[in-house]
Amino acid sequence: MEDKFDEVKLWTDVCDHLKLSVSSAIFSTWFFQTHIVSLKNRGDRFIAEVGCPTLFSKSTLETRYFGLVQDSLSSFLKSPVDLIFVVKQKQEEARNFNTPSVPLFENTQQQSPNPEKFNLAISKSKLRLSYNFQNFAVSSSNQMAWAAADAVSKNPGSAYNPLFIWGGVGIGKTHLMSAVGHSVLEKNPDAKIFFCTGEEFTNDIVEGIRNRTTQNFRDKYRKLHLLLIDDIQFIAGKDSVQEEFFHTFNALVSVGSQIILTSDRHPSEIQRLEERLRSRFEAGLIVDISLPDFELRCAILEIKAKQRGLQIPTNLIHMIAGNIDTPRKIEGFLIKLMSELMLKKIDLNENLIETLIGKGDENTQVKMKATASDLLAAVLKYYSLGKKQLLGECRAKQFSQPRQLLMYLLRTQLSLPLEEVGRFVGGRDHTTVMHAVDKITQLASVNVQIREDILGIKNLL
Ligand code: ADP
Ligand code: MG
Repeated sequence: MEDKFDEVKLWTDVCDHLKLSVSSAIFSTWFFQTHIVSLKNRGDRFIAEVGCPTLFSKSTLETRYFGLVQDSLSSFLKSPVDLIFVVKQKQEEARNFNTPSVPLFENTQQQSPNPEKFNLAISKSKLRLSYNFQNFAVSSSNQMAWAAADAVSKNPGSAYNPLFIWGGVGIGKTHLMSAVGHSVLEKNPDAKIFFCTGEEFTNDIVEGIRNRTTQNFRDKYRKLHLLLIDDIQFIAGKDSVQEEFFHTFNALVSVGSQIILTSDRHPSEIQRLEERLRSRFEAGLIVDISLPDFELRCAILEIKAKQRGLQIPTNLIHMIAGNIDTPRKIEGFLIKLMSELMLKKIDLNENLIETLIGKGDENTQVKMKATASDLLAAVLKYYSLGKKQLLGECRAKQFSQPRQLLMYLLRTQLSLPLEEVGRFVGGRDHTTVMHAVDKITQLASVNVQIREDILGIKNLL
C-alpha cells in the first residue's frame, strides 16, 4: 500500500531544516520557489521530484545543494531518497503571477507585445533597449545578483523589496537593473516604470522645491510600479533629498510597487546615508557583483561583438578576455577595435589585438596578467604566512582559508586548469581545488571580509 505523504508539509519541513544550514540570502535565492512535484514510494526508497523556477536554479541546486536536500528529505521520510530536480513553476505561482494589489503587473506574456508600443514604453521609462536579460551573461561573480533580479522580474513588489545591487565600476549593475524593467515591460508594456540616476532624482527634487512643484514630483514618482535608481549613493549627505526619497520609498512599497537601487558600495559603507534609509535598504535583499572571471569575460565579449556584427575567432576572444578585467573596459576595447578596422580597412588579426592591448589607455586599461608565483607571493604577504604553512597540510583555519583563497585566485584570475592549480598548491588533487573554488565563491557572496581579502591581495599584485 502506498503511504501518502502531505507533500506540502514535507517540503515546508525540509525548507525549515535547510534554513539552518545555509545563509538566508542563499535560501531565498535558491530555495524560495522550489516545491515537490511528485513523491513516489518504491519499495524501501522514495523518488522525489523537486520543481525549480528556472533552469539556472535547477543546475545550481543540482551542483551545490543536491546532498543537502537529499539528506534532509531522507531524514524526514526515514528512507533513502532518489532526488531529481526539474524546471517547473509552482501551480499557484504560474496562475497568480503577481500581488493582487498591483493589477498592472499581471502576467500577459502570452500575447507578445506590439514592438512599437514596447519600444515606446522602453524609451518613456528611460531604459536602454539592449540592456536586457538575453544580453546578460551569468557566471559565479554575478549569479546571485542575476538570480535575485530574475526573481524580482517574475514577482515584482513581492520577491525582494528593495533589491539593492552593489559593486565596482563597469561591472554590470546598470545593465542588470535595467533588464528587470525590460522584462516587466515585455510582459506588460503598460506598467509604469522609471529609470533614473541618483543625480537625476536629486535634480528633480531640487527643481520641485525651487519652483514649488513638489506635487508634480510626487505625482511622477509615487504612481510608479517599478522605480529604478542607479547610483543611489549620490543622495547621501543631501538632507532634503533623502527626506523626499524616504517618503517616496514608503509610498511605493506600501502599495506593492518594486524598487531597485544600485550603488558602488554596500549600504553600510555609504557615508552620511540616513539611518532610516540604511535600515530600509537592509530590509530588502542586498546582492553584489564582483569582477568577472575569464569565462564570463569571454561571454560578454561575444555578446558585445555580436551586437556590433563582428565575428571574433575564439583564440582572439581568449586573448582579449585574458587581458581586460571589467565588462565596461571590454566594451571600450571593442569600440576601439571597430574603429581601427574601419579606418585601416584591415582584417581582424592577432597583431592588431596585440597592438591595441599594448596601447591600452585609461578606458580600456589593459593589464598584463600576473603569474602564479606573483599570486602566491601576494597571498603570503597579505596574510604574513610562510610558504610551508600555506602550501602544507595543516588544516587550521588561519592556513586553510588563505590556501583556498590562493586556489580560487589561481583559477579565477589566471584561469589555470584545476589540475595545475592543485599541483601548484602543494600537490593537491582537482576535487580539492574544485571544493576550494566553490567554497570561496559562496563565501565571497555573503562575507565582506573575504571580499576585502580578495581585493587586498589583488592590490598587492
Ligand atoms: P555598472 O553600472 O556596474 O558600472 P554597466 O551595467 O554600465 O556597469 O556595464 C558596463 C558595460 O558592460 C555595459 O555595456 C554592459 O552591457 C556590459 N556588461 C556588464 N556585465 C555584463 C554581463 N554580465 N553580460 C553582458 N554585458 C555586460
Ligand atoms: Mg552604472
